[in-house]
Amino acid sequence: MKEFLSNIIKIDGKKSGKTIAIFGGVHGNEPVGPMLLKELENTLEIESGVVYLVYANPQAIEQKVRYIESNLNRVLKDDNKGKTYEEKIALELQNLLDQSDALLDLHAFTQPKGEATPFIICEPEYYSLVENLPIPFTVSGLHNFEKGSTDQYMYFQNKPGICVELGSRERPEEFLDLGRIVVKEFLKSFNMLSNTVKSEKAKKIHLKVVEFYKKKNRDFSFSKLYKNFDYIQSGELVCVDGGISYVAEKDSYIIFPREDIEVGEEAFILGEIKK
Ligand SMILES: [Zn+2]
Repeated sequence: MKEFLSNIIKIDGKKSGKTIAIFGGVHGNEPVGPMLLKELENTLEIESGVVYLVYANPQAIEQKVRYIESNLNRVLKDDNKGKTYEEKIALELQNLLDQSDALLDLHAFTQPKGEATPFIICEPEYYSLVENLPIPFTVSGLHNFEKGSTDQYMYFQNKPGICVELGSRERPEEFLDLGRIVVKEFLKSFNMLSNTVKSEKAKKIHLKVVEFYKKKNRDFSFSKLYKNFDYIQSGELVCVDGGISYVAEKDSYIIFPREDIEVGEEAFILGEIKK
């Protein structure tokens, strides 16, 4: 038996069908995914196909850190050489995704206080898969700016890879119920569950990424305390980075605002409403 770096559990359906991968803990400091996987491991029964439950980055999950050596969600690439711990994991995950028909990747974001609006990363081709979810915001087009994420790896193979950001990583308990609905609705789309799940749809606001800003200097600060999906008006000062002001060119929403990161990492994303 081959030893995997990722902890992978296989659930078989009664009949043949699709192969679905559900990832949690790609970032080890986002506990909601692994908590849901643990629950599914003990309870999930599917009508057809195969579901792989994947604790993606076990060392990072154990240490409760985002990653050990490199951001796992930026290294799933065809030219991945498997040098760092996460690149080695990525090779395994890529192999698993090559055999899978679809991916659901469960994440959470940094927002200790206040409302933490969950959202979906999904390309327009696959909006039908998320239509029934009770989550309004979707974000597309990240692949035009940054490569190597799990959902993009699937996208480049013309297969659906949906990433769901289940609210604040600091408060996973609040988002477990939503996570349960997300998993069930996703599996329902592939006829793996009998049609018993009912959730409330949300009217969708589809955003397309127009800016992907990486921190350039240690001396970096936002103009105010932003949270996910705060509305940014054209002309608004967003941040000052090494003394240089960044002003928004268009009306947009801010996504993943993070000040306390390394130089070269993503400080924020701007998304515009897709017409
Ligand atoms: Zn994450």
